Amino acid sequence: MNRLLFVLTGTCLLLTFYTVNVAAQNTARRPNIVFIFSDDHAYQAISAYGNKLVQTPNIDRIAREGALFKNTFITNSICGPSRACLLTGKYSHINGYKLNERKFDDSQQVFPELLQQAGYQTAWVGKLHLGSVPKGLDYWNILPGQGHYYNPDFIKTGYDTSRITGYVTDIITDFSIDWINQRDTSKPFFLVIGQKATHREWLPALEDLGAYDDIDFPVPSTFYDDYKGRLAAQKQDMTIDKTMTLAMDLKVHVNYEKARDYSRMNPEQKKIFYDYYENKISKEFDEKKLTGDALARWKYQRYLKDYLSTAKSLDRNIGRVLDYLDKNGMAENTIVVYASDQGFYMGEHGWFDKRFMYEESLRTAFVMRYPGVVKPGTVISQFALGIDWAPTILDVAKVKIPGAIQGKSLLPLLEAGNKNITWRKNMYYHYYEFPEPHHVYPHFGIRTEKYKLIRFYGGADSWELFDLAKDPGELNNIYGDEKNEKIVAALKTDLRKLIVEYKDEEALQLLEN
Ligand code: CA
Repeated sequence: MNRLLFVLTGTCLLLTFYTVNVAAQNTARRPNIVFIFSDDHAYQAISAYGNKLVQTPNIDRIAREGALFKNTFITNSICGPSRACLLTGKYSHINGYKLNERKFDDSQQVFPELLQQAGYQTAWVGKLHLGSVPKGLDYWNILPGQGHYYNPDFIKTGYDTSRITGYVTDIITDFSIDWINQRDTSKPFFLVIGQKATHREWLPALEDLGAYDDIDFPVPSTFYDDYKGRLAAQKQDMTIDKTMTLAMDLKVHVNYEKARDYSRMNPEQKKIFYDYYENKISKEFDEKKLTGDALARWKYQRYLKDYLSTAKSLDRNIGRVLDYLDKNGMAENTIVVYASDQGFYMGEHGWFDKRFMYEESLRTAFVMRYPGVVKPGTVISQFALGIDWAPTILDVAKVKIPGAIQGKSLLPLLEAGNKNITWRKNMYYHYYEFPEPHHVYPHFGIRTEKYKLIRFYGGADSWELFDLAKDPGELNNIYGDEKNEKIVAALKTDLRKLIVEYKDEEALQLLEN
C-alpha cells in the first residue's frame, strides 16, 4: 500500500513537474524579430504619417496591426552613425562613429551578440555600410559600401563578392526570406533587413518608373525659406535649386558611359531605363527650356517622383515579408519593426538630404507590430530615440539590458494599458559631419514638446530657439528675444543635464566656453 502510494505520489510529482516545465517553456517562448531598416525614407512620404498623395499600404498595415510612434528622433541624423546607434544603443560620442564613411569599432559590444548568447539566431541582410561587420551575427549578406540599385554586388559570410541580377530592394528581400527559410527552427531569430532604398540617387525599380508622373506635388510651405536669422541654414549646400544635379540626381541626359548604376545593367534593363529617362524625361526637360524658379519647381517634381517611385518598391517588399510570415504561420510569434535610419527633407526649407536638427531630419518613421502585446492601432506620442531600439529588442527577447546602454526599452510604452508611465520629456541631439558633403555645421541641442534649442559651432557659432507650437516650420529663430530669456535659461539647464547624463564631454566644453 505504502509502495503504491509512493509510486502514485511520484507519478503525480513527475506530472506536476512536466506541466510546470512545459508552461515555463511556453511563457519563455521568445518572439522572432524582423527589423526592416530603410535608408533616408522620410515620414512625410508615408501614408500612415499623413501623406495623402501616396499610399504605403504595407507600412500602414504594420501601424494598423501594431503601434505607430509619432515622435521618434534620431540622435545624429546620418546613415552610418544612425546604424551605429542602433547596434550599440549609445550616442555617437560613446560608440565612436560620429561621421559617415568611417570604420565602426567592431571590438565594442553590440546588442546582436547578446541576443546570440541568449540563444537567438542573428542575421543582417542588405545595407550595413559601417566599414566593418559587427560581432554577433550568425549570418550576413550585405552590400559592399553604399551598394547599387541595379544588379548589385553582395558579399556574404564565407564567400567572395558576387553580382546579382535584379533590383536591390527585391534581392535583399529574397535573401532575407531565404535565410528565414533555412534557419534552425528550434531557436528564435533576429533579422535585420537593411534596405538601400530610398537613398540618393533615388533609382526606382524599372517596373515603377513613372509611377507618380500624373501627380503634381504641391511644394511645402517652407520651400522658399530665406534662412533669415539662421546662420548655419544660410551656409548649407543641400538645396534642390542649387545643389541637386540634373544628370546625377534627376537623370537628365545621364552620362551613360560613367553612370555607375546604368553601366551595370544588361541590354534589356538599359532599354527600359533609357526609354524613360532619355526619351521621355530628358526630352521634356529640353522642350520646356526652364530657368529660375520654374526650373527649381521642375526639379522638385522630378525629385519627388523618383524618390516616391523608389519607395514604392520598398513598401511592396515589406508586404512580401508580411505575406511570407502569414503564409508560414509565423505572424503571431514574430515582431515586425519598420524604421528609417533618419528623416529626410522633401523640399522643406528648399532642401533634400538630412543632418540638421530641424524636424524633418530629426524625426523618423517607426512602426512596430507585436501580436499579443501591442494593441492594434496603438499610437505612441512619447519621445522614442534611435538608441532605444537596442534595449527594446533585448527587453522583448528577455535579455538583461547592459547598464552602459544609453537608450531605454520602449516595451513599457508598447504594453497595452500602460500609458501613464513616467517618461522622458526632452531629447538630446548631436551632429558632427562637416564640411562635406552638404556643408552643415556641427551642432547639438535639446528638443522638448514645445521648444527646440540648438547650438551651432565650428564656424557658424550661434544659438537658435524655436517655439514648435507656434512655428512648426522652424522659420523664426526667437533666441535673443528678451521675453524668451527665462525659457532659454531653463532649456540650457536641461541641455546641460542631458550632456552630463550622456557623458558628451566635447559638448560640455563648448557649452562652458
Ligand atoms: Ca540614411
